[in-house]
Amino acid sequence: MEHLPSLAGLPLQEIETLLSPLPRFRASQIYKWIVRGVSDFSQMTDIPHSLRQEFASRFSLYSSVIDSFHEDRQAKKAVIKLKDGLKIEAVLLNDGKKRLTACLSTQAGCPADCVFCKTGSLGFARDLCAEEIAEQFLFLRNAAADTLGDEHIRDNHIIENIVVMGMGEPLLNLAQLRMAAAFFTDPDGMNFSKRRITVSTCGICGGLFDIAENGPFIRLALSLTTADEPLRQKLMPITAANPLKKVKEALALFQKKGGGRVTLEAVLLGGVNTRGKDALSIAEFAKGLDTVVNIIPWNPADGLEFEGKPLREPDREEIEKFIGLLESKGLKVTKRLRKGRGVNGACGQLGCLRS
Ligand code: SAH
Repeated sequence: MEHLPSLAGLPLQEIETLLSPLPRFRASQIYKWIVRGVSDFSQMTDIPHSLRQEFASRFSLYSSVIDSFHEDRQAKKAVIKLKDGLKIEAVLLNDGKKRLTACLSTQAGCPADCVFCKTGSLGFARDLCAEEIAEQFLFLRNAAADTLGDEHIRDNHIIENIVVMGMGEPLLNLAQLRMAAAFFTDPDGMNFSKRRITVSTCGICGGLFDIAENGPFIRLALSLTTADEPLRQKLMPITAANPLKKVKEALALFQKKGGGRVTLEAVLLGGVNTRGKDALSIAEFAKGLDTVVNIIPWNPADGLEFEGKPLREPDREEIEKFIGLLESKGLKVTKRLRKGRGVNGACGQLGCLRS
């Protein structure tokens, strides 16, 4: 099937270019409707009927389609089919108080290959383009309207936070991520605050320095896991090319240039990185930075092992001891709720590429 060029997620100027020689206000009209979440040109009621038909024959609104939704009490996972048939996942998380967060993917699969993550175990298919990243949000926002009731559909801020913590390593696809972020934060469009967008990275130095120098000053989260470098190299092979000393330098620069508090994420793998030494290494890494540590008890994913042994969830005692040690060093610590496990939609469980 031939695919028409899609418009959702594009910056206004690009829609103007695609539509020329039509007057620019036509592009603005379409852009506004996209921001409001319509799914069809026929719904764009301030555009003459014949023109809507012409648009529909030349363009599509979205490049991807929803394949299926999977829902449990705290999460709704969308499986999204891209135009080339690959499938990715995005998740709408709720905290039980009607506060919603959209978790977005930036790549189909992931090249980082962290041993504890299902997405990494699938390998890497390709980068997502900015529209494919933006569309995930638009799809989830419509799903959110279904969850909360139709009166919310026109409320642009029905979703409070965006976390770029789905499939893939965002800083290995920085140019497209930047364009998607520009779409989300356009004051004349989605108008999403940069402070409500968190990008999680396994610690790609080049990308971190680039963001520190050139923005955008979204919130950053670093998947530290442990700052014991030899262990981290085994758990997260990208460490070899991205030594923690440099990662820390980049984060310090990010904060110096105006970036806010950085979250240090620590996935706890039972019996592997729950040693006192690991907690102390994190405390050492955090020195001189403005941070909060986010503890993520490992979410099981089939077939993942480390040094010949299957990975296991940390037990409660391990978690409490670890947190206690971090707090004794003066760190602020939060623990991530295990949202989405009922639909394999929790951290590190996303992974659907082909089926
Ligand atoms: N590539 C990015 C973003 C995706 S992962 C990154 O590494 O940050 C989002 C978070 O989930 C990361 O902190 C990652 O370390 C964590 N994670 C990966 N697999 C997990 C699992 N099985 N259980 C719990 N957290 C996991």
